[in-house]
Formats: sequence, C-alpha cells, structure tokens
Amino acid sequence: MTLLDGKKTSEAILQEIAHEVQAIKANGGKVPHLAAVLVGNDGGSVTYVNNKVLACDRIGFGSSLIRYEDTVTEQELLQKIQELNEDDNVDGFIVQLPLPKHINAEKVIESIDPRKDVDGFHPTNVGRMVAGLNAYLPATPAGILQLLQRYDIQTSGKHCVVIGRSNIVGSPMSILMSKAAYPGNATVTLCHRNTNNLAYHTRQADIIISAVGIPGLVTADMVKDGAVVIDVGTTRVQDASRKSGYRLRGDVDFDAVAPKCSFITPVPGGVGPLTIAMLMQNTLRAAKKEVYG
Ligand code: NAD
Repeated sequence: MTLLDGKKTSEAILQEIAHEVQAIKANGGKVPHLAAVLVGNDGGSVTYVNNKVLACDRIGFGSSLIRYEDTVTEQELLQKIQELNEDDNVDGFIVQLPLPKHINAEKVIESIDPRKDVDGFHPTNVGRMVAGLNAYLPATPAGILQLLQRYDIQTSGKHCVVIGRSNIVGSPMSILMSKAAYPGNATVTLCHRNTNNLAYHTRQADIIISAVGIPGLVTADMVKDGAVVIDVGTTRVQDASRKSGYRLRGDVDFDAVAPKCSFITPVPGGVGPLTIAMLMQNTLRAAKKEVYG
C-alpha cells in the first residue's frame, strides 16, 4: 500500500510555480496577482483565506485581501467584484464561500469575469470543462488529478466510483474522470445520498473518490483488494486529547481500509493540501493568459 502524500505533492507544485515566478520576474514580466474577498469572521474561512495569502507570499505572487463585515450588502459586494474584474493588476480572484444568507452566492459567482475566476466556479468555466475546452478547474478535483498523475496511477479503462455530487467536488470529479484524457478515460459511476446499496457499487470500483462528509462511511467490506482510495471528506470530530478539542476525520475507515488498497490518501495530509497549490496554479495560468488567451 502506498500513501498518497498530499503535503509533499503540494510542496513540489508550489516550488515549481515559485521557480516560474522567478523566471517571469527575471524577464520583466507581470508578477501574478491573486485577490481574495472574505465576508465575515467564520474561523474556517479566515484560516483558509489567510493560508491562500501566505502561499502567495511564499511563491512570489502579489496578493490583496479584501475584508467585509457580514453585514455587507449584496450591492456593495457586486460593486467590488466589478472593480476587480476591471483591475488590470489582478489576474485572478476568489470570493470565499460560504456567504451570509442575505447574499445570493450564485449571483456573486456569475458576476465574476470568467477570465479571472480562478476557483473555476463560474458557469462558463463549468461549461467549458464539461465540453472538454480549456478551463479553470475547481481546486479539489484538480488536486486529485495531480495526485493520480504524479503517482503514475493508471486510470484508463478503470471503474471509478465517485461518492458525492457537489458542484465543487463530486460532480466535476465524475466528469473529469470520464474525459478522454489522462488522468481520465475511466468508466464512472456517480453515487449520492439517493443511491441504493452504495456498497454494491463501491465493491466494483478500481478507484473510489469519496466526497461526502460522513466519517467512516466507506468501510473495509465496501472496498475490493488493490483499489485506489481517495478520501476528500474532512469532518471535525471531538477529541479531548487534542489542544484544539477536535481532529479531522475522512469518509473512509482508514485503519481497516488502508491494508486492502494499492494507494490511499490520509486525512489530513491527503487531498486537502493540494487545493491551495491548485489555486496558485490557476492564478499563474490566469497571469499567463493560458485559458482564454
Ligand atoms: P456537500 O457537503 O455539498 O454534499 C455532500 C454530498 O454527499 C452530496 O452530494 C450528497 O448527495 C452525498 N451524500 C450524503 N450522504 C450520503 C450517503 N449516505 N451516501 C452517499 N452519498 C451521500 O459536498 P462537498 O462540499 O463536496 O463536501 C464533501 C466533504 O468533502 C466534506 O467533508 C467537506 O468538508 C470535504 N471537502 C474537503 C475538501 C478538501 O480540500 N479536502 C474540499 C471540499 C470539500
């Protein structure tokens, strides 16, 4: 069994990007710039956004963090997005989700210029991805593709079972794995909360990608010998032995499942660390105008 080390893979990607930024600077080119809009003070969101800004600093990107109280109006937010759309110094930007209930997140996402939508959430980028055109891919599925690729995992002709159909992970993952590309060319089954007999499907899987958020959902009897298991789930569970009072658990019953696998991601340290690296990669692609020209 090989552990898919997301931290190591993420570090390697960030270093590759940092080298490219150095070369851009040496040639007098435009330094990539990422802007992040954060509404409110939710602990998780604040940490995520701070980590994104820190990653920019580390690899030599410019960055700006725009913060609003959670009382900000939708109109104010849309106005800021318009400014960012028009700001030539900003190559890409994100609006950290979730947003407060009084703000229509779909409207906000649709107001982002698709050429700067480095989260890959705008319907134009989603549509381009589905059509097999060049697009910004959402960070988590893109990170999983990187893991599969960098560990040289065969996907062509394999049966891939994706569990979960969210717009940010499960749904795009199922589409990408079915594409005529590597990693891809798999036969894909997409399971979700209405799937009857989940175990029947997962037992046939060469590759399982679980993005649900139920700790221990995938048990050893649901996994065939030699399977590749990618665990996206990250749920906080109470743990009095930790200073924080909690620890993160994936969807997969890791201790029982891991011995059966050819490859498996740990939680934490598997898929999670790759998401920031993929956001940085999208921002670099935006600065180089690789997607829309
Ligand atoms: P979500 O929370 O929006 O939806 C969960 C999905 O699971 C739904 O599509 C639902 O149909 C499916 N589901 C629910 N119960 C099920 C069951 N019993 N059997 C089969 N399917 C079931 O999904 P999300 O936003 O993709 O998040 C999923 C998990 O992944 C969460 O734990 C989240 O924290 C985590 N996540 C991690 C990362 C990362 O970087 N590691 C990124 C995004 C999400």
